[in-house]
Amino acid sequence: MQEDTSKRTDVNELGEFGLIEHLTKDFKSKNASTAYGIGDDAAVIDNGGDKLSLVTTDMLVEGIHFDLMYTPIKHLGYKSVVVNLSDIYAMNGIPKQITVSIAISNRFSVEAMEELYAGIKLACERYDVDLIGGDMTSSPKGLIISVTAIGEGERDRVVYRNTAKVGDLFCITGNLGAAYLGLQILERERKIFLEHPDIQPDLGKETYLIERLLKPEARKDLIEVMRKSDLVPTSMIDISDGLASEIFHICTQSGVGAFIEESGVPIKQETEVQAIDFKIDPITCALSGGEDYELLFTVNPKDLDKVKYMPDIYIAGEVVDESEGIILNTKGGNRHPIKAQGWNHFKP
Ligand code: ADP
Ligand code: MG
Repeated sequence: MQEDTSKRTDVNELGEFGLIEHLTKDFKSKNASTAYGIGDDAAVIDNGGDKLSLVTTDMLVEGIHFDLMYTPIKHLGYKSVVVNLSDIYAMNGIPKQITVSIAISNRFSVEAMEELYAGIKLACERYDVDLIGGDMTSSPKGLIISVTAIGEGERDRVVYRNTAKVGDLFCITGNLGAAYLGLQILERERKIFLEHPDIQPDLGKETYLIERLLKPEARKDLIEVMRKSDLVPTSMIDISDGLASEIFHICTQSGVGAFIEESGVPIKQETEVQAIDFKIDPITCALSGGEDYELLFTVNPKDLDKVKYMPDIYIAGEVVDESEGIILNTKGGNRHPIKAQGWNHFKP
């Protein structure tokens, strides 16, 4: 097939989400079992019974999503699973199976692939999921890993992005911005190494930030805590592209606005110190950084007492009317509209 070169539109004109929407808008579901298709962290399949099936997939490409110069390949295997499990938890589901598809060139040895699979195995063990298949093919140069995760959710407990209500409270798990700074540190060391190969990398005191990037965890623990307390969020998304982008997804899909307190956004002290060292405002790392794999969710205010005492969950603001916009109330008391600045995958 030949492309008609008289009409060529650059993919960057549409951006990632614009392109997905453009390419998929004419697809109509034919099957009653397709309960929810494109647009959330995972698709939802309803085959009857009290359990719904959840499916999500993510692809990691060498040179775009990871650099093997500073990514141990075992960590990469672990991470490629965890980022998918995070999307199942973001639906309030429990992951059960994964498939793993790999494209490799002959640059990679059997031993390197064994390491990759050691990481995949560790994630399967830690998160109680089964590897049930995949695909293996060759690539001209780099490594590409695509993982699909399959999970299940209870019919009345699956949580979507489009169901936040005015008056609900925004909650954030864990802490944000650390992985972004981990990446900045590794990029800095890579540049130094390329210019001065004899200088040893200085990674000593920032191990937490680097670990957050190279070996993230999905919040299985908090999904279990919520379950034990019988708390069902009114909406939820995982924080993979930066808080700002995820707030936008919840708000635009739910038709609401947001009033977020800067002081309510959890940022670790190590992250703050490192951000200031790089001359970046710490809140910018949380809003626009990405790769945190924490959860952003909303709860009905009647559940305030439940979330208030949950470990590692922070109340960050309130769902407001759409007309009020998406606002950050800074520590200094200024109100700024939050801009969505997720990763633009087409401009690495
Ligand atoms: P997440 O950040 O949670 O992994 P994405 O931003 O990757 O989600 O995707 C958003 C939505 O678009 C999801 O429902 C996903 O399944 C869908 N999607 C992504 N890429 C494609 C594609 N090439 N074709 C069809 N749907 C896609
Ligand atoms: Mg997601």
